[in-house]
Amino acid sequence: MRRIFSLFCLAALGGCATVPRIATEPVEVQVLAFNDFHGNLEVPPPVEVIEADGSKTMMTSGGAAFLGAAIARLRQANSVTVSAGDTIGATPLTSALFLDEPTIEAMNQIGLEFNAVGNHEFDKGLDELKRMQAGGCAKHGLRDPCAVEPFRGARFTYLGANVIGANGEPVLPTIATKRFGTGPRAITLGFIGMTLRATSTLVTPAGIAGLRFADEAATANALVPKLKAQGADAIVLLIHQGGKTPKFTRGQGCEDFAGDIVSIIPKLDPAITTIVSGHTHWAYVCHNGAGGTHGGRLLTSAGKSGIFLTDIRLSFNPATRRLISQRGSNSVVGTGENGEHVAVRRLVDRYVAAAAPLANKVVGRLTAIAPRNEDDSESPAANLIADSYLAATRSKTNSGAQIALVNATGVRVALPAGEVRYRDAFAMMPFGNNLLVMTLTGAQLRAVFEQQYSLPLRSNASRPAALVPSEGLRYRYDLARPAGERIVAITLDGVPIDPARRYRVVVNNYLASGGDGLSGFKAGTDVLDAGIVDIDALIAWISSGRTVPAVGRVIDVASAVPAPS
Ligand SMILES: [Zn+2]
Repeated sequence: MRRIFSLFCLAALGGCATVPRIATEPVEVQVLAFNDFHGNLEVPPPVEVIEADGSKTMMTSGGAAFLGAAIARLRQANSVTVSAGDTIGATPLTSALFLDEPTIEAMNQIGLEFNAVGNHEFDKGLDELKRMQAGGCAKHGLRDPCAVEPFRGARFTYLGANVIGANGEPVLPTIATKRFGTGPRAITLGFIGMTLRATSTLVTPAGIAGLRFADEAATANALVPKLKAQGADAIVLLIHQGGKTPKFTRGQGCEDFAGDIVSIIPKLDPAITTIVSGHTHWAYVCHNGAGGTHGGRLLTSAGKSGIFLTDIRLSFNPATRRLISQRGSNSVVGTGENGEHVAVRRLVDRYVAAAAPLANKVVGRLTAIAPRNEDDSESPAANLIADSYLAATRSKTNSGAQIALVNATGVRVALPAGEVRYRDAFAMMPFGNNLLVMTLTGAQLRAVFEQQYSLPLRSNASRPAALVPSEGLRYRYDLARPAGERIVAITLDGVPIDPARRYRVVVNNYLASGGDGLSGFKAGTDVLDAGIVDIDALIAWISSGRTVPAVGRVIDVASAVPAPS
């Protein structure tokens, strides 16, 4: 260092006294961060934000071209762009129809560098995730890859430190570093990326067979020495797990912050100074010790769908390369205030045009709106789906199903009254699941109904999610009774289910492999893939017009009107 100072001394006309001050000016490194983009190539629907004065604003913001422009405008000299997961999966039609290939390419254009995997990165299985990274057109599902153009894969790196394969080793890269500047003032940032431990309960089990999702803090801490050995001056954790403040705001605050990440943070090695989080779709910035749990760390999240962008600045002492301070802020990406990313806009337009003929096609008709239930309970929408599953698989020549069961957690939005377009149906059921018919005894059927009321509540849920049956099947439950004895009655066409009798039951592949924690479905025998995608069953059911079914198939004894005696 002394040698460099003296060289500076000779060159500087202003005198040597100023040189050390210049040399000790902090070096700033920028981390631009977002999360839960979920393939929102186009501007997503407006969201309601609570302003500082308590008023509410409907805000329209996000989409790939505007996010790309905001990143380009904010990007400084020493900068890195990261995502905390769910960049793909559960995506709108324009991305999903093309297996999220356009979203990966948009992220390439935007300059994303490191992407922690989230639960939704596993929606189509590990092989398809590896294709997202490596590119190519190998087919791992029902849709054809490379439908619009060749797919070159991600130019960014997926990090999945806690995704452990059958051999006990991580199946994805765990860490990464990036060096900013040259010479002794160069700063190296280390990155650890991971998904939440509960990923195994959130995705189709068949897609992640053989994978284990390890403890977040233990995994991260074990990687700290490795990053230090690679010269990391500070370590950023990209983690697809998060929390919420009581109100959805513009994302500057951290007041009354709570959630699953709160218990992880105190366990982290002190070398992990900065945490980019996600999964809750909330926007927040928690500075030094906010809530008393963060130990001086910075914790951020940028909502979802490219609505917000987090700008984190880490300041280092150039002599010691120690982190002196850090700050973060969320800004609203908006819809044009920063201009548009031209190449991304062109990409999006190309895929919107490719999707349009199918997206706009009228595929059915309904007598009324079919709403979903906000608590993932029974709803006209879920009943309609259950009836469509049964209709598609009822014939003896196709599986002979007698009962359909639908996970209400998978019913995303309502269907409109009148004309239903493909894009409406897709928005309601975007997963592209296929239908499986299995044999369950009456006793096994009861066991799976009991199981849904024995599981711990989903985070942020106020009541258990419902398995919604097709017409003819009804069940009553009583949450006041002990777990395992909460199903009071199950009837099929008015006749009680016989525990010894065998029933043919149709469900989607998500439930069949034990999705939503309902492992009871794995007891099914004579499992037959009906060869039908769920959305196609729905379309066939509503194509010539359909009356929206009423609710009343799943009855909570506590809220039921007593039957007349
Ligand atoms: Zn998630």
